[in-house]
Amino acid sequence: MTPVWAPVPNLNLELKKLNCSPDSFRCTLTNIPQTQALLNKAKLPLGLLLHPFRDLTQLPVITSNTIVRCRSCRTYINPFVSFIDQRRWKCNLCYRVNDVPEEFMYNPLTRSYGEPHKRPEVQNSTVEFIASSDYMLRPPQPAVYLFVLDVSHNAVEAGYLTILCQSLLENLDKLPGDSRTRIGFMTFDSTVHFYNLQEGLSQPQMLIVSDIDDVFLPTPDSLLVNLFESKELIKDLLDALPNMFTSTRETHSALGPALQAAFKLMSPTGGRVSVFQTQLPSLGAGLLQSREDPNQRSSTKVVQHLGPATDFYKKLALDCSGQQTAVDLFLLSSQYSDLASLACMSKYSAGCIYYYPSFHCTHNPSQAEKLQKDLKRYLTRKIGFEAVMRIRCTKGLSMHTFHGNFFVRSTDLLSLANINPDAGFAVQLSIEESLTDTSLVCFQTALLYTSSKGERRIRVHTLCLPVVSSLADVYAGVDVQAAICLLANMAVDRSVSSSLSDARDALVNAVVDSLSAYGSTVSNLQHSALIAPSSLKLFPLYVLALLKQKAFRTGTSTRLDDRVYAMCQIKSQPLVHLMKMIHPNLYRIDRLTDEGAIHVNDRVVPQPPLQKLSAEKLTREGAFLMDCGSVFYIWIGKGCDNNFIEDVLGYPNFASIPQKMTHLPELDTLSSERARSFITWLRDSRPLSPVLHVVKDESPAKAEFFQHLIEDRTEAAFSYYEFLLHVQQQICK
Ligand SMILES: [Zn+2]
Repeated sequence: MTPVWAPVPNLNLELKKLNCSPDSFRCTLTNIPQTQALLNKAKLPLGLLLHPFRDLTQLPVITSNTIVRCRSCRTYINPFVSFIDQRRWKCNLCYRVNDVPEEFMYNPLTRSYGEPHKRPEVQNSTVEFIASSDYMLRPPQPAVYLFVLDVSHNAVEAGYLTILCQSLLENLDKLPGDSRTRIGFMTFDSTVHFYNLQEGLSQPQMLIVSDIDDVFLPTPDSLLVNLFESKELIKDLLDALPNMFTSTRETHSALGPALQAAFKLMSPTGGRVSVFQTQLPSLGAGLLQSREDPNQRSSTKVVQHLGPATDFYKKLALDCSGQQTAVDLFLLSSQYSDLASLACMSKYSAGCIYYYPSFHCTHNPSQAEKLQKDLKRYLTRKIGFEAVMRIRCTKGLSMHTFHGNFFVRSTDLLSLANINPDAGFAVQLSIEESLTDTSLVCFQTALLYTSSKGERRIRVHTLCLPVVSSLADVYAGVDVQAAICLLANMAVDRSVSSSLSDARDALVNAVVDSLSAYGSTVSNLQHSALIAPSSLKLFPLYVLALLKQKAFRTGTSTRLDDRVYAMCQIKSQPLVHLMKMIHPNLYRIDRLTDEGAIHVNDRVVPQPPLQKLSAEKLTREGAFLMDCGSVFYIWIGKGCDNNFIEDVLGYPNFASIPQKMTHLPELDTLSSERARSFITWLRDSRPLSPVLHVVKDESPAKAEFFQHLIEDRTEAAFSYYEFLLHVQQQICK
């Protein structure tokens, strides 16, 4: 297998150089069909995949007083506009001719006058503007962080508080913000507890509110405090919290009332609420009942309860969104907790969702370590507050369905109380008016946000694509990874609004219809062989992978919360991470060499070739690494060379490798160095720390690993070969 790269749109060299990076902005079709009729003929999905706030090493920041925008459609000036003369530019989205403002005539980079086309805004398709007060409805808010913590018996037993408080203590000075940063804490079991952290107190003061039907804020002004003025009190509280509830007998969880209180507390400023929950909420507003029937986990028929049981969490999220507050959920549960309902608090408030099934701080050390590493990223990564994102496209194109965590405020405006660098979005497009008069179309996203330093900023990405009139060109330009990610998003919606089996059928039909349509353009004869354009060669494999994904699989035992979480990930991850989840990368690692290795920060990183996801590739003499995005597996064959086992795993032979192993020891051998260097390099490329499992062949844990070998047949699903036959039969019908 060869690695798959984003296709480069077929533009002239100059435009290619200026175009937006596919890491930020991708379209399912890099050749845009001229008409909706042509798109319909191709039977392919049209849409954009966005990663608008990703971490960038290079970002031109523009501080000029005048932000130049089209007077008619408000598009930001970009590399794809045309200058009619020195004084006028033509908008590439609506074609209006605009004046070039006087200030724009001066180029701050070259310090010369009369070169508007050389300004950084016109030389870079990704830029960030520092905005003036015109872009503010109110003075920029400070960074405000509220932590809402489950301290019921179940939570204390799971032991997450120690990890969280430790992580907060370590990262308190690295929380994004400035001298105005505010922080607060609430805990809850059957009652809701507040903490007065007002500067001047000798120790934190706990205030218990037991009327959960009408929660009030006991001392509203001293619950969210300035991080710097109250730092000692905050540290005292974080030191004390893990031991405060150790003898609790409270088994109930009044999550809903705690969230209502959090909303009240955050309303005046907005900011981020981080909720830690370990069980089904059982008291007060928003209480939930178990809806999972464990006997139905392997059902091949109907999968129920993929949607919320109550609209409480959605309503709360919309209220929060209206007050510029996002709610992030950390679900650390050992049993069913109805994530389908709980997730709504984050989905509609532009929050994010983290899930640690079977979490226990000592019994499940790999999950505990994952939480610790995830928290480090979560607490210290960039954050934008009170954000809105607008996507504009060339006249004739229109957007109709958005995917991600947000609230749609108007047809093309997404309300994002918070934005983080790990959030991905997708949007479906249609062609409303024919594009015959133009050879290029453009898409522009503008993300307006308040930085943690209180600056109003606008990050703008502009993507340019050619328009084509022939079906062959449409097929030639398919970005198969973007297409599969968009289809996955659509399948999640369909699973919830209709049914899982409808969603699965739609995925299969997407392959059958597009390949059938392609076949009929190539020849009128009935082909006995399945034919696909090279751009779509991997399409059937990726769809099969989706059908075997936790979110959409049937016939294989899948916990309801696990399935729902996979759906949440599909809807909110950027393409690069989602692809690894759909189609993991498999490498042989017992024979790593420096051949083709790359050099990163004085480290030599081996680059082993990708392997097909099939057991036939796994020789018993080898060791293989599978990268599934958020989890790594190292499979050790029974006949694996003892030298490798000793040099890399630190055990004398296969038999002595323990059943549970989640770390590679740091051994002073060349093979150990190469293996660790490769794994570290993979790890560093993603925001959340993947868990590592060493899996011995013939151990019970190997089922987890083998389920990702999607080219192979399972009891419940086709092999790749069988799936291709099935597709072919459907086409010939
Ligand atoms: Zn315009």
